[in-house]
Amino acid sequence: MAGNVRLCGQCGAAMILGLAACPFCKLAYPGVSRGAACPGCAHVNASRRTECVSCKHDLTRACARCAARSPLDMVACWHCHAPFCHPDPTGWTGSATAPGSQPGATTAHDPCHVLSTLDDILKS
Ligand SMILES: [Zn+2]
Ligand SMILES: [Zn+2]
Ligand SMILES: [Zn+2]
Repeated sequence: MAGNVRLCGQCGAAMILGLAACPFCKLAYPGVSRGAACPGCAHVNASRRTECVSCKHDLTRACARCAARSPLDMVACWHCHAPFCHPDPTGWTGSATAPGSQPGATTAHDPCHVLSTLDDILKS
């Protein structure tokens, strides 16, 4: 009835397809998976995007093993599944897990440890 244009529930600005949060008031869009925050304009893009909706900034990073480029919000290479050692912290404002708040909780699945172990195997 109201057409395809949806408005931000907080500030009333038109929702931008491809973003995961309102660029004006930062309210998260309902039903949109949150991806990486753009390094260029800080707009929070929807997950799995490879370029910023707003400024076209590259939202991918190269895999250290196979050089394939994956969206910033992925935790492992989409191509060879090598985990990224340094998950991009931008866009995650720390409301869920602060670094160091859960000692031991993340070490069991430390992607850096897994990757270095693989490297050791390959080198030996
Ligand atoms: Zn808004
Ligand atoms: Zn941008
Ligand atoms: Zn890879």
